[in-house]
Amino acid sequence: MAKHPRGNRKLIRAINRSSVLYSIMRFGPISRTDVAERTGLSAATISGITAELIESDIIFEKEAGDSSGGRKPILLSINPQGGYVVGLKLAEDNITAALLDLEANLIETYTDKFENHTTDDAIHSLNNVISDLLQIGEIRKEQLIGVGVGLAGIVDAETGVLQHSPIFGWHDFDLKNSLQDKLEVPVYLDNDVNTLTLTEKWFGAGQGVDHFLTVTIGRGVGLGIVIDGQLYHGSHGGAGEFGHTVINPEGVVCDCGKRGCLETIVSDPSLMRSAADAYAAGRSNEEVSDIEELVKLGQEGHPVVTEIFDQAADALAQGLANLINVLCPQLIIISGEGIRAGDLIFDPMFAALPTYVMPGLSEHVELRIDDWEDHAWARGAAGIVLRDFFESPIHRKVPVSQI
Ligand SMILES: [Zn+2]
Repeated sequence: MAKHPRGNRKLIRAINRSSVLYSIMRFGPISRTDVAERTGLSAATISGITAELIESDIIFEKEAGDSSGGRKPILLSINPQGGYVVGLKLAEDNITAALLDLEANLIETYTDKFENHTTDDAIHSLNNVISDLLQIGEIRKEQLIGVGVGLAGIVDAETGVLQHSPIFGWHDFDLKNSLQDKLEVPVYLDNDVNTLTLTEKWFGAGQGVDHFLTVTIGRGVGLGIVIDGQLYHGSHGGAGEFGHTVINPEGVVCDCGKRGCLETIVSDPSLMRSAADAYAAGRSNEEVSDIEELVKLGQEGHPVVTEIFDQAADALAQGLANLINVLCPQLIIISGEGIRAGDLIFDPMFAALPTYVMPGLSEHVELRIDDWEDHAWARGAAGIVLRDFFESPIHRKVPVSQI
């Protein structure tokens, strides 16, 4: 038998531990014999790993309820209280946090303000929110397995470096390691729309759907892509910048520096800007102070405001049609605070879609408008930690040559 270098032996142990944990999580309550069958590991290896997991309270043993008269088999289950994870969604002016147990049950949520946007302040604020949440949930720091963070921007999910975030004005910010050093637990980072997409995949409408997209509208326009059941990040984590696909090259300048991006027509700030322009030009007699007021005017049938939403709906339909034509998903979930406009934007959007989608593709796609909650984004961020906890390093892109 070939000798494994020390590093590989450690990796193999980690893989075996994950396989056992995954079997118990997915198929538990389950006997050691069935775990052996499912994992292909020896009885001795399973015995060693399960002893370790019982010792650390992550799994527990119980007797099977029914028995054919002989000795009742001992079954293994995940102990939901064996550990906890925190997910955070960092937004422009607040941080939402979610506390989950090992079975992904939502235990507590908490939101606090986020005012100062220096990178040091961000680490400080995230740390404070985690402490407060643990206190509210009556969880000790030692019970915390890891922390996941979702935020707007281009994130390299492998390294945890936030490469670029126009909202916060950060570039190459090593948020993962900075927060990890402070907390002394593993930290995971991903784009916030990706964390929301994972929430849909694990807990929402995306369960069991191999090819689906999550499109968010609101402050910006975002996209999460699931292909073959896996979240797609692209080569450097930049996949999904749907909001910056150009709809009108003659259009207004976007935050990203380009002209006429989808976001410059559909996002809340863009809708507000169009209303302000109409007022300044004397086309509308309504000076609108916030997006809720604009939506209300549109719903009451104000002609200029309706026209603004019609234009946004048409641009969104063009963007969605392009996604359908390129990716042919089974399902598109539209979410985010922008769905507050309801029929005002979605009626004209659905009416315009057939104009842009290639014939033969649209009938296979389900479009679904999803109610959104602040903590849904944070829940997905917590899910990243659980995924890593239960998933074998094989699925974490460890090169096969190292195994
Ligand atoms: Zn742009």
